[in-house]
Amino acid sequence: MTVGGTGELPRAVGKLQALIRYPTVSYREPGRQDAAAFDGFVDELERQFPLLHERLELTRVHTHGLLFHWPGASAGRPVVLMAHLDVVPVEGEWQHDAFGGQVVDGQIWGRGTLDDKGCLVGICEAVETLLERGFTPAQDVWLSFGCDEEVFGTAATQAVEELKGRGVRPWFVVDEGGAIAHDAFTGVGKPVGVVGVTEKGIMSVLLRVEGRGGHASTPAKMGPTARLARAITRLDRAPMPSSLPAPTLELFRRLAPHAPLALRPLMANAARLGPVLPKLLTALGPESAAMVRTTFAITTLSGSPALNVIAQTATAGVNIRIMLGDTSETVLAHLRRTIGDDQVEIDVVEVYEPSPLSPYSTVDDKDDAFDLIETTISEVFPDAVPAPYVMMAATDSRSFTEICDRVYRFAPFRMTKAQREAIHSYDEHLGVDAFLDGVRWYQRLIEGLPT
Ligand SMILES: [Zn+2]
Repeated sequence: MTVGGTGELPRAVGKLQALIRYPTVSYREPGRQDAAAFDGFVDELERQFPLLHERLELTRVHTHGLLFHWPGASAGRPVVLMAHLDVVPVEGEWQHDAFGGQVVDGQIWGRGTLDDKGCLVGICEAVETLLERGFTPAQDVWLSFGCDEEVFGTAATQAVEELKGRGVRPWFVVDEGGAIAHDAFTGVGKPVGVVGVTEKGIMSVLLRVEGRGGHASTPAKMGPTARLARAITRLDRAPMPSSLPAPTLELFRRLAPHAPLALRPLMANAARLGPVLPKLLTALGPESAAMVRTTFAITTLSGSPALNVIAQTATAGVNIRIMLGDTSETVLAHLRRTIGDDQVEIDVVEVYEPSPLSPYSTVDDKDDAFDLIETTISEVFPDAVPAPYVMMAATDSRSFTEICDRVYRFAPFRMTKAQREAIHSYDEHLGVDAFLDGVRWYQRLIEGLPT
């Protein structure tokens, strides 16, 4: 879709601009949220999408979570379209106001354009347009918009409870995650429409060593700080084993025909190559290493509060992303074995296991829901190669795996590498044309629901 030369922007763009202007920032500290911004956003959404609010039944969830129900011709295979209305705080030097919603050089600028108001407004505009045409979807459509995704809040789990209470078992769920990723794989000339079929788990642990402390003039050997440092070094030297999970093998198989000649056989036959490819990927850098194994990042560190005092307690926070195939149990076992020191206590702070794997289509096996997503990608983005993949980050949709076997993570927007890097950083922006293509994708997806 191309923007006409009249200078007038399509109405969907104006709606996204209006909603970007509400600073719906989530903070971990309770009560720090600007409640007026969230109230304002919810009111503005109603002003921008009057028909949607008139025809769909709305259930408020948590403080500002929204769950809309659009009855279809059948309730047999309901689908859920998800997004979240909160954003992360603004940091860094922005070229354009982070809450200005300006359109400059064909780009819509602002916090939330990509993550995740673009999806939210895209879904609403698709529904509003279809309602204007008097369209009834073949299946029930639910819209679930969270208000605390960025702080691992509970709005999504409450929406799941609400659906459970009503006996709704979705056929499939689409949430943010993948995208039409340009320049994602070196040497692959085509954009890749990556659809997340699982996400890595998250676990945070605190390593803690206690000791006598005392005066810095008479230090003993292997005090708490040295012992902690040894544990960290041991952990750093012994990563967990790498492997290529099934969706990654399928991703490679699909990319192979578009990869440089020399790489094609390697990618197409990745499944038969055993540990060669995962080993190669771990050597290529942190991004590709994260694709093939559980990762450990030492984040917080603390010891003595004063320069001349020996620490009584030394702690290190470890943020762990658990690979499909590993569990918090296997990770803990690895930690204990690798550190090999029972004076280092390991306290688990939080755990989310990797999400169950959603079905996807392969050469021998077609899945109806994945197929619909895939064909809709090919229709709206004919140059892109659709493929399943393992998501590295977490989304609200992980809560929905409790009531749904098919949870897909995909935002239907073209994104360059620079745009993907702007998420949770500075200069977040979305192309006007890219946004309008996304609106069309949601619309075609709803129109394509089978009877
Ligand atoms: Zn997000």
